[in-house]
Amino acid sequence: MTTSELIHSDLRINSYGSYLRRRFSCRVSKVNVDGGFTCPNRDGSRGTGGCIYCDNSSFSPKETVAVIPIEEQMAAGMAYHRERLGSEKFIVYFQKFTNTYAPVERLADLYRRALDHPDVLGISVGTRPDSLAPGAIDLLTEIARDRYVCVELGLQSMDDAILARINRGHTLAEYLNAVERLSGRGMEICTHLIHGFPGETREGFLKTARLIAGLPVTSVKLHQLHAVENTRLAQMYRDGSWQPIGVDEYIAAACDFLEELPTRVSVQRLYGSAPLSIRVAPNWNLKNNQMWYAVLNELKRRGSWQGCRLDRAVRAA
Ligand code: SF4
Repeated sequence: MTTSELIHSDLRINSYGSYLRRRFSCRVSKVNVDGGFTCPNRDGSRGTGGCIYCDNSSFSPKETVAVIPIEEQMAAGMAYHRERLGSEKFIVYFQKFTNTYAPVERLADLYRRALDHPDVLGISVGTRPDSLAPGAIDLLTEIARDRYVCVELGLQSMDDAILARINRGHTLAEYLNAVERLSGRGMEICTHLIHGFPGETREGFLKTARLIAGLPVTSVKLHQLHAVENTRLAQMYRDGSWQPIGVDEYIAAACDFLEELPTRVSVQRLYGSAPLSIRVAPNWNLKNNQMWYAVLNELKRRGSWQGCRLDRAVRAA
């Protein structure tokens, strides 16, 4: 597809919502479910303490926790999106913690139960680059033969020094290896990124867009680093060792990032928010769609759009 077919002139970016509508010819929503997983960066198998921005209070011990059956979670989520947005079809998003971190039989049971619903087109699975055992990749490959599958990989930063500083528990090399192992198997690959880490520069952050331009990544999720209660980041904010970036700085960096992102990569998210009761900093008080339009308006003001700073060859790749 050409740039003008991928980017609506009013939107200036290839939004994931538009992509899903083009691909499935109907309104599609993602429905979040909690599969009762935990995380190897918490339970000691990979690290302890978790990422510095991860909410301690929401964590369970190594064993999985009992959760509401996913069928019930899906029914509630689908009813909400049907009523609010008129959505007709759904992608079930295994979102909470590390959703490939379990024996393959358990993964197969959960994924298949999600896919059993007639209005479910496929699944999105959020995970870490170090948590993709061969059995899990084979299972996802098999599902992707006739259903939509997206693996959402948390990278957050491509700078190993930052990854170590935030106690991420994996390296850039592990992310690149995960992308290589997932590619060519009929699955989409989404990469999660955060901007505003201690010691991160705008230029350092923008290198990530250039990295992604050369990888088979199909979508990105980006948000500002923000601190919630019960995290080490909240302590750092309170003791003055971390300051959040300003909203205008974030919007400018997000636009710079998008201008270097190929149009074939769709954009799933540009903002992270937390309930007021646990939010520590920053306090921008914006809703998701307000940030979305703030970024689009800045692109409009600049007269730019997603991928406009790439040369023609990369843009079309
Ligand atoms: S990888 Fe995700 S779930 Fe695990 S500690 Fe980091 S933020 Fe928390």
